[in-house]
Amino acid sequence: MENVKIPYVYITGSSFSGSTLLSFLLNSHQQMVSISEVQGPIKNVVLDKYLCSCGELFLRCPFYLELEKRINELGGSFTLKDWHTKFLIYDHKWLNYFFVRPLRNSFLERIRDILVPLWPGYQKKIDNTCRQNVMLARSVLTISNKQIFVDAQKDSMRIKYFQESDKLDLYVIHLVRDVRGGVASIMKNLNINNVVKATKIWYTKNMNSERARRYVPPSRWFRLAYDDLCADTQGTIDRISDFVGCKRVTVPKNFYDSEHHIIGNRMRLTISGDIKRDDSWKKRLNQEDLKIIARIAGEANHFFGYDWP
Ligand SMILES: [Zn+2]
Repeated sequence: MENVKIPYVYITGSSFSGSTLLSFLLNSHQQMVSISEVQGPIKNVVLDKYLCSCGELFLRCPFYLELEKRINELGGSFTLKDWHTKFLIYDHKWLNYFFVRPLRNSFLERIRDILVPLWPGYQKKIDNTCRQNVMLARSVLTISNKQIFVDAQKDSMRIKYFQESDKLDLYVIHLVRDVRGGVASIMKNLNINNVVKATKIWYTKNMNSERARRYVPPSRWFRLAYDDLCADTQGTIDRISDFVGCKRVTVPKNFYDSEHHIIGNRMRLTISGDIKRDDSWKKRLNQEDLKIIARIAGEANHFFGYDWP
């Protein structure tokens, strides 16, 4: 078991593009398991009050308590408050940018890929974090008795590190939402009133993901439109099953009712079987906003397959 590569599905893209919904759907597949985001709850939540999607307090959820126990049995360094699964070289924000964050430029990233392994301690830190992620995936698979792990962290740099791991068999899904819906959702969820800022977040996250394509073989990259997931959920889950090489199964009508321990987006607490495209951008964005969005990210929206502007 220890030497068998773990089939590892990685969901990348911009936040608030439907990855929580996709995590629920894939977790209801009998061979796949997802807890959505694998770096633990974000830092600014009050952990004592944070709820797992199962309805239990996260710190008391039997699934996560078992996960903590198993990872530590495997020799990992894991507490529910600190997962140690985020790729960091230094605690300093800008130093970390230089070493492990997207640089928004393929040329600079290629130069960095050559240089940073020469830095003392760099490779050891990357290897240790990768090992911690492998232990987490292996433990989740054991507890859930499933075979394929789904990670919806959406940090494009993780693709590079996971692809280099000899313990993971990586499949990447780039989930892209139409820029209008994506921007409106970013504004709503991050409480941002600045449409330029929200559009740049959508643009940067999706372009970072697109640049990370070079790390994986073409057969291991699947670009998925949020619209397709909503319009043809069963067909889309079947396509993902084919992509990953597992059997097709019928998505249960009450897929949200089976056992889920999803963390991350607050939608985890309100999900229902009513899958329809969220078009609330029509109310949130005015004509001026749409012009700004089109100017900044219109070309990219077309590139990702959407027919607007
Ligand atoms: Zn739970």
